[in-house]
Amino acid sequence: MGASSENNPLFKPVEFLRGVGPARAELLNRLGIFRAFDLLFYFPRDYQDLTQCRTIDTLEEDIIQTVAGRVERFSQRFSRRGPVLTLEIGDGSEARLEGVWFNQPWHAQQFAVGRRLLMIGEPVRQSGTLWRMSHPKVIWGENNGDSGDSGNENGGENGVGGDGEEALKPRDPYLPIYPLTAGLHQYHLHKILRALLETLPDALEEVFPQEYLDAHQLPGIAEAVRAIHFPKTPDESARARRRFVYQEFLLLQLALGIRRKQHEVNLKAPVIEWTPEIDTRIRRLLPFDLTESQSRVAREIAADLARPVPMNRLLQGDVASGKTAVALYAMLQTVAARRQAVLMAPTEILARQHLRFITRLLENSRVSVVPLLGGQKPAERAETLQKIESGDAEIIIGTQAIVCNEIEYARLGLVVIDEQHKFGVMQRAQLKTAGNLDPHYLVMTATPIPRSVTMTLFGDLDVSTLDGSPPGRQTVHTYVVDESRKARWWEFYRQKLRQGRQGYIVVPRVEESGEELKSTQTAYDELSAGELAGFRLGIVHGRMSPEEKETVMLDFRSGEIQALISTSVIEVGVDIPNATLMTIENGSRFGLAQLHQLRGRIGRGKYPGWCAVFDTPEEPTSESGSKEELTARTIRKAKRQKKRKGSEISATVEPPVRPRNSGRARLDIFAGSTDGFFLAEKDLELRGPGELFGTQQHGLCSFRVADLVRDQALLLEAKRDAALLLSNDPGLASPPYHALRRQMLARYGKVLELGDVG
Ligand code: ADP
Ligand code: MG
Repeated sequence: MGASSENNPLFKPVEFLRGVGPARAELLNRLGIFRAFDLLFYFPRDYQDLTQCRTIDTLEEDIIQTVAGRVERFSQRFSRRGPVLTLEIGDGSEARLEGVWFNQPWHAQQFAVGRRLLMIGEPVRQSGTLWRMSHPKVIWGENNGDSGDSGNENGGENGVGGDGEEALKPRDPYLPIYPLTAGLHQYHLHKILRALLETLPDALEEVFPQEYLDAHQLPGIAEAVRAIHFPKTPDESARARRRFVYQEFLLLQLALGIRRKQHEVNLKAPVIEWTPEIDTRIRRLLPFDLTESQSRVAREIAADLARPVPMNRLLQGDVASGKTAVALYAMLQTVAARRQAVLMAPTEILARQHLRFITRLLENSRVSVVPLLGGQKPAERAETLQKIESGDAEIIIGTQAIVCNEIEYARLGLVVIDEQHKFGVMQRAQLKTAGNLDPHYLVMTATPIPRSVTMTLFGDLDVSTLDGSPPGRQTVHTYVVDESRKARWWEFYRQKLRQGRQGYIVVPRVEESGEELKSTQTAYDELSAGELAGFRLGIVHGRMSPEEKETVMLDFRSGEIQALISTSVIEVGVDIPNATLMTIENGSRFGLAQLHQLRGRIGRGKYPGWCAVFDTPEEPTSESGSKEELTARTIRKAKRQKKRKGSEISATVEPPVRPRNSGRARLDIFAGSTDGFFLAEKDLELRGPGELFGTQQHGLCSFRVADLVRDQALLLEAKRDAALLLSNDPGLASPPYHALRRQMLARYGKVLELGDVG
């Protein structure tokens, strides 16, 4: 697309293409297709295999076959079980084939004598020369009255060949199946694309030099575009797809690599030294010995801090793997080097928990720890700010919103961002510091992240992984509890409370204002009058003020509150070892990663944890509910799905099709594993990266073709190749790669703030 002139055929509005016209153009627009170019890159979601194509007189029973023919006659009759359609076709042989449909009268709309079609199904011999397929799949040729906007042409446009009986054969062994919209048919797209593909692909710019294509066994762009629409063999379409996936991954990896290099060159960070003496001093302050894994990660971080470029590291580990201690180590190393460290938490509850833990540890040291929290009095806040700006404050703990706000840090050395999962490629919190040094960054994730996501979403970060958990960690038993077992679960819950343990009851958080309050309040009312009558209950939810939350959390921590009813505000990070019970209401409302994160709140101390996730089916089975109700529900559901689809289509041309998965199946997976890394992979598989990390807005994971689950191997390959390319040519500036670089900038220049490259 290099030469983007008005006359470039690739940019021709679809309306003016052969076989389109204004009405159909509008339908195409609805699919996000505006120019010829968009059509070329509107890829099929699947193919219809027409290789088993037979004439009727050579059909066999028990295998799926395809027959190309014409409609000879059709009829509709009414049996006791409803309407029956029969469609009889011939193909020039003596034999006849009929397709039969029960209770699907709408097929008749397509029926017209003489119309060409492909009939696909498993035939059964009715008599000598008569065969029948029940509920066959039919691919229609154009009806005579519906020949598109561009007049008649020879030949069906659905892959059903020309006029002569001889040619009543699919011309393509694999017929593309495109995502459609109402009013648009497969044969429309087949026709339009066939015409386009004859010439247009040659106008596409090849971004790879020929040697590169050869070395990586990638088909050229024109060949790939043709093959992905009308492949001759499955292998051909696979090779074509591989090229596009590879290209998408490579562009991103190049962009990430360049961004990283730019930071290395442009940004300077304070050197934060590490010595064995500092190590000994830090370890003396900690209340426990670091595990081997914690020590290893602390060393990785220490090495980064000692370099004059900003660290950009992601620390991931399963829930309760002990990330805070590692972060604290790094912060103390920073303080030892006379620099300030900031710890940001996503919630006020968590910030206060860190504050308490760290203040207590450092009680007898000279390190000055200051909070930056909501609800501070103006005088208190002014004093804190003064300490930060003068450099007296050494460790600063607060929530995200507050620490970033217009504060100038005197000697900022390290920023730790705790329990992140909403961050994409790191939008660095812009913390200001005096001088021209940038701080080091350590990001800690809330849950394990699938490897493929780390490499894309967090692709410009180095990654450290904490494996295993601190000694003495208890197992958490998980049960999916349906209506019939709820009473038994509560009986058990009460018994444990009486033994002195504590518990959570998690209710889904509802976004609309007030709802959250209502859901927790309803649960409170019901439980205090019912299953948990006589126990000391508390409530915490996102709409309470920070002080209110803090009071409740303190009461829970001290045991004053025995069971805490909460929305998912307790989701991340909260660490109360005596809490061993958790009831999760409406479990199917939560994703796997989130369930795992919730469950991570229990089993953190010396007692095993017990988690029940209530499975309340939202959609009743077809036996229950009146017909009207079901219809209304179906419509609502369809609307919801449509809404979801609509938003996806704009981001990725073809949303990856994921297996439908009932909430129950997800809950069973959850109950079956406590391995956060495994659950994260599953979550990605089931829900896709957008849902998982809420990152659609970053535009990083919205690939046209690539699928982070299916294509992991190619992702690795692209990452390796990008590194190699950039090691020879850091700005990707050499002439053979100009086109590649231009495309990379067009796609990611803005998103990744790449600025001037090369
Ligand atoms: P997460 O990784 O989920 O943030 P935390 O940092 O909150 O986990 O640690 C979980 C619990 O384990 C805390 O109570 C913490 O004090 C404890 N812990 C962390 N490291 C160790 C260790 N090496 N030995 C004993 N307990 C530890
Ligand atoms: Mg934590």
